[in-house]
Amino acid sequence: MAASDLVNLSGLMDDAKCFAMVREHRWPEGVRCPACDSGAVIRDGCDDTQPHRQRYRCKACTGRFDDLTGTVLAGHHQPLRVWVLCLYFMGLNLSNRQIASELGLDGSDVQIMTEQLRRGLAAKTPEVTLKGEVEIDEVYVVAGHKGQPAAVAKRGGSDGAASWQARRAAARWKRTSRRSSA
Ligand SMILES: [Zn+2]
Repeated sequence: MAASDLVNLSGLMDDAKCFAMVREHRWPEGVRCPACDSGAVIRDGCDDTQPHRQRYRCKACTGRFDDLTGTVLAGHHQPLRVWVLCLYFMGLNLSNRQIASELGLDGSDVQIMTEQLRRGLAAKTPEVTLKGEVEIDEVYVVAGHKGQPAAVAKRGGSDGAASWQARRAAARWKRTSRRSSA
């Protein structure tokens, strides 16, 4: 019988500590808004299905986010503790195949996870290679548009539509120039 049949490590892990670890890693100086980088952030309850996943509201841009927003850990079907274990096994130099076996996952799933984790726990999954700040800003604002046109319009009012368009143009330019130089 394999050790993993006897000890289900993932089941022994503390979700609250896993989320605390992510917070400490991505915001060592305190929580900051991933959209505008403001530190004027208040807690705004917790995730409906993950009680240790803290939600926040930014007082500067009125944006909402949580512990995992903008990280490789957001939007995946694996619980955070599986990611943390994966990270731990990577530190032990286990192969993707060994990690998959320990976690009871598909090898191809684990390969995607380890590739993303190597880019950094708190780094946004890049669709194209960009400087992180530009990409996060663009992704956030586009996503915020969905179902919340009023909130976006409000942001535009205080922030200035022109500056947003300029940033967007800069992001496009950067993406284009990187592509052509590649
Ligand atoms: Zn903000």
